[in-house]
Amino acid sequence: MPGIGKKSAYRIAFYILRMDQSSFQNFISSINEVKEHLKFCKNCGAITETEICEICLSTERNAKIVCIVEQPEDIFFIENTNEYRGRYHVLNGVISPLDGIGPDQLKIKELLERLNKEPIEEVLIATNPTLEGDATANYISQLLKPIGLKITRIAHGVTIGSTIEYADQYTLGKAIKSRLTI
Ligand SMILES: [Zn+2]
Repeated sequence: MPGIGKKSAYRIAFYILRMDQSSFQNFISSINEVKEHLKFCKNCGAITETEICEICLSTERNAKIVCIVEQPEDIFFIENTNEYRGRYHVLNGVISPLDGIGPDQLKIKELLERLNKEPIEEVLIATNPTLEGDATANYISQLLKPIGLKITRIAHGVTIGSTIEYADQYTLGKAIKSRLTI
């Protein structure tokens, strides 16, 4: 499990072992529910219980701006800042030649399709401020520049080398507020 070291893993294992039968059954059915009911939005890639997620369907959201993130869980952290009211697009990773991941393995083709059918005027690139995240942001901005869209990047309020997941709400909110055109 990501983020869980050996000691925590032992603690969790013993906790499960000591659970009474009904708590254990609840625990198992919760995990089952996640696998059965949660899926990825067909439009943006967010985690959802329906074919198309609430954010894509909402008329309250600004359809002119799309925020590009690496993973579906990044949406959750950006939503927590309450600073962003547009839509999202999940890449499902970043360009990483060492791991054999190129632009074709990411949801970039799907993004281009969305630019054709949605009234998008601004693309806010919120990939992590890591080497791969920056390289992916550069690739996308070069790709989209000829289309004439406004392309922005979240500012470095998020610690360089870290990930969106570990940034506190305030830092991430500030980063979105002070985004820069690239
Ligand atoms: Zn969606």
